[in-house]
Amino acid sequence: MSDPTIPLITQALYVVAISFFIFSLKGMSGVHTSRYGNWSGAAGMVTAIIATLLAYQIHRTDLLIIALVIGVAIGSPIALKVPMTAVPQRTAMSHAFGSLAVALVGTSEFYQRTPNIDTAPTLILSGEMILGYLTFTGSCIAFAKLQGIIPGKPLVYPGRTVVSLSSLGLAVGFAIYLVIFPSSEYALPLMTAFALLFGFLLVIAIGGADMPTVIAILNSYAGLSAAALGFVLDNRVLIVAGALDGSSGLVLGLIMSQAMNRSFLNVLFGGVGSKVTAAAEVSAQAGRSVASYTVEDIATILKDARTVVFVPGYGMAVAQAQHVVKELADIVQAQGVDVKYAIHPVAGRMPGHMNVLLAEAQVPYEQLWEMDRINSLFPETDVAIVVGANDVTNPAARTRTDSPLYGMPILNVDKAKTVVFIKRSMSPGFSGVDNELFYLPNTMMVFGDAKKVLTDLLAAMK
Ligand code: NAP
Repeated sequence: MSDPTIPLITQALYVVAISFFIFSLKGMSGVHTSRYGNWSGAAGMVTAIIATLLAYQIHRTDLLIIALVIGVAIGSPIALKVPMTAVPQRTAMSHAFGSLAVALVGTSEFYQRTPNIDTAPTLILSGEMILGYLTFTGSCIAFAKLQGIIPGKPLVYPGRTVVSLSSLGLAVGFAIYLVIFPSSEYALPLMTAFALLFGFLLVIAIGGADMPTVIAILNSYAGLSAAALGFVLDNRVLIVAGALDGSSGLVLGLIMSQAMNRSFLNVLFGGVGSKVTAAAEVSAQAGRSVASYTVEDIATILKDARTVVFVPGYGMAVAQAQHVVKELADIVQAQGVDVKYAIHPVAGRMPGHMNVLLAEAQVPYEQLWEMDRINSLFPETDVAIVVGANDVTNPAARTRTDSPLYGMPILNVDKAKTVVFIKRSMSPGFSGVDNELFYLPNTMMVFGDAKKVLTDLLAAMK
């Protein structure tokens, strides 16, 4: 049934906005349609804002315009200038601000209605505020970890689960108290403080390698919180958009947990990545030496290769080496070599990161092989060229039970006849774990910036 207090034009525009959001999700599920999906999402948001402005009488248009100008002035340069490698932390900040906005609206709604507020809206608002505030601090910590402001390692201390769950329990306890005694306004700041604390504890306890899953889940929390607020404000577009956001984040979190062989429940309650031990942190390979090679050596072995697999990772994104990778692949292929690209679901710093970069370099889609398909082909691969990847190739994920990577499916490049590793130093990857692959007899290390090394290799090949 339609709400008579909302103008018909607004209701019609809400339906249009919701359709845009659904098309957006559909579009973003495919590489070729993702650009349209993005535009569709933006169109949905503009439509929803216009519809809302039409529905309500605005008393202070000046404040609205000032907020809009400030938002556009800050947001536009960030959107235009942020490098692809920093998109995950930018996404974390979007979740932080989105969830804070939702939680603050919920808080003001509560204070406006109390003490004559019914049980149901108090219950929904309390849940909404807890989710919103915990997402805010959780997203800020995710941002700080991804940006390198604080270490990516999980903060582990005795009794940490009890401390985390107690803070959540206290937030929920104050929420219940508020539902029973809605006039006890002092319970709200206490509930807020414990929800903020829980968000902090939740993400600080999670290791960097699990951050992609955490971001998907925080996205889901922000969406669920917005949907709950939509019920209280009786705003249908907020309910639908929040539900779409919440459910898609949850599905993405589940898919990523499966891809990384993580317990979804552990990520949900902030317990993953905690298995890191002092032993794992210490370089397991101390005292062993690696074999360093020149680009001329690599050019020689590539001349005799029949099958070559490129394994891109975060370093390729940093060096912006995707175009030169494609150029090299084309030259090798022109010599009759079979060329493929191995794509790990969490290579880089955001889901689909490698797909986006390689699509930008116009690598044919058929040459991209997902992990499950390519892994069986590594034993027949003559040369695997690892371009700035590390964690996603680390055999410790299969063998070392004390490693934070243990259990994560990896690209089995160690099974290839020869592995060429291009990176600048012996530094570990995002998870901070040493890679025993560097020390294997079939590994050839080439130290240097990926773009520079590949450009030199290209020259040597020519
Ligand atoms: P990685 O393990 O972080 O390793 C990247 C390697 O690239 C580093 O060891 C680094 O070594 C090298 N590198 C950096 N700049 C370079 C340059 N200019 N030229 C050449 N090499 C360079 O990357 P990954 O193997 O792609 O694994 C991704 C990791 O990030 C996983 O742990 C994953 O869980 C995590 N993560 C993923 C996402 C996602 O959604 N995809 C999001 C957040 C976190 P040097 O410093 O020695 O050069």
